Amino acid sequence: MYNEEDFIMISALQHYVYCPRQCGLIHVEDVWQENLFTTRGNILHEKVDTDTYETRGAIKTVRGLRIHSYNYGIVGRCDVVEFREEKSGKVILPVEFKSGEPKEDISDKVQLCAQVLCLEEMLNTKIFKGAFFYGKIRRRNVIDIDDELRNQTEKIIASVREIVSKKTVPAAEYASKCRNCSIQSVCQPKAMNKRKLNNYIKELYSA
Ligand code: SF4
Repeated sequence: MYNEEDFIMISALQHYVYCPRQCGLIHVEDVWQENLFTTRGNILHEKVDTDTYETRGAIKTVRGLRIHSYNYGIVGRCDVVEFREEKSGKVILPVEFKSGEPKEDISDKVQLCAQVLCLEEMLNTKIFKGAFFYGKIRRRNVIDIDDELRNQTEKIIASVREIVSKKTVPAAEYASKCRNCSIQSVCQPKAMNKRKLNNYIKELYSA
């Protein structure tokens, strides 16, 4: 069990999957800069996170629900949670809105799984599926919240906690993803790689 002052943001898990250094710079050093991708995401979430709910037929839809888990020490917000009355019984389905399309990495899935961990604890229930709505392809994708994803999410929570609690920002490793990173100008991954190379050469000749 964690105290509220030890909670980490669910968004930190996504940042960690994208790049551990990005996670450290944002959640330890408080660095933040917008770029095209973050701005698109912000605009979409302003429309979705409205703190409202509505009931249509057998589906109650809650928007912008604040969530947390004392067991995992995480906190965040769900874009949408659907409470559905189905023939098989009551089904709870978190739905996360994304401006783009499905990603190759697991960052979005980990975010959704972390939301499920919070909802299960808060509502004392079991949730087997979650969904994404992707703006670019205008389609809803439903995914299984299986044991493999739960284990991956738990490991990532532990890795993020290590960075945040020890206040250590991992070193930069320049990669193609750096081109789309909103905090590249602060991180300066190429300069850091150059510094590492210079230090290596110095050590080589001083040995
Ligand atoms: S610029 Fe690259 S190394 Fe630096 S935080 Fe972004 S993704 Fe990570």
